[in-house]
Amino acid sequence: MDLENLCQALPKLELHAHLNGSLSMDTLKKLYKMQNPNSKSSEDTLMSIKNFSSLGECFKVFNIAHSLTTTPEAVFHSTYDTVKEFKEDNVIYLELRSTPRAIEGKMTKQEYVEAIIKAFEICKTDFPSILLKLLISINRKQGYKAAQDNIELAINFFKKYPQYIVGLDLSGDPMTGSTFLELLRKARLAGLKIAAHCAEIYQMLSHLSHVPNETETIDILKFKPDRLGHCTCIHPTLQGSSKLFNLLLDSKIPVELCLTSNIQCKTVSTYESHQFKYLFEAGHPICLGTDDKGVFHTSLSHEYKIASSTFGLKQEQLLKLCLSSVEYTFATLEEKQALLYEIEKFSKECNITY
Ligand SMILES: [Zn+2]
Repeated sequence: MDLENLCQALPKLELHAHLNGSLSMDTLKKLYKMQNPNSKSSEDTLMSIKNFSSLGECFKVFNIAHSLTTTPEAVFHSTYDTVKEFKEDNVIYLELRSTPRAIEGKMTKQEYVEAIIKAFEICKTDFPSILLKLLISINRKQGYKAAQDNIELAINFFKKYPQYIVGLDLSGDPMTGSTFLELLRKARLAGLKIAAHCAEIYQMLSHLSHVPNETETIDILKFKPDRLGHCTCIHPTLQGSSKLFNLLLDSKIPVELCLTSNIQCKTVSTYESHQFKYLFEAGHPICLGTDDKGVFHTSLSHEYKIASSTFGLKQEQLLKLCLSSVEYTFATLEEKQALLYEIEKFSKECNITY
């Protein structure tokens, strides 16, 4: 089996995917038609976005996705289609994450989450080969009150649907202080797992010193989330420091790495210089994710292929990446065993020893 086919066929686990950024062009078109049933020039705006390599165009897609997911029905279809696409990419476990949104007169945050769960319920029957979980996101940019609301919402939904709602994701501008971590403690006490974006971007304002970012990163590491996202600006060659990198290695917290996302957002200049290299070489727990497959025009298979061709990973190492990802999921022990069984079955069928 050649590399491309192997990466496609591997039973993969996606642990870092934002719902809105994952919407494909087909889904966006469908949502546009739902929202504008009588529009003649329906696809003009969407079709004009062809050059996904430009960051400006990427953010246009984010904005369009937001403007098209303003009703529970649209959120339902977004979720259903996204699950279907991950399933078609042979993803056997998907942890989606999303910030609940309220749109006045159209949708409450509660209805937003309910729409995702409703889609999960239907997908469970339609696509039984993929196990689904949801992380409720807290976007630091939206402030303390929104974070408080989302945590309360997550705890309530966790009580009602523990099979789907498994944790919280801390995302957004990392410069806004550590007060959010105090809120996350409450969620952790309630039994929710925590995934936190960490050191994703370097200082956007060049006149600022390293200090705020480093303080934030240290605060997050000390909090010991169950998983970390990106951890880009931690290694000394990526505007971090030896101190930070050693702290990360000592923490042994699994890191979700999204190669294409970091390249397209220009937080890392080349695939070769991506933090994957340093974490992989150090034997640190890592897993691959797409971040926003729609926005960055990628798939999890494609991310595996890039990791393999850039860092020379052999087929047994790719299989091991899938296997070790199982351990980092927020699934139950029983579910993890079932996932391991699937990957081991694949390795036997393809005669890949590891
Ligand atoms: Zn992310």
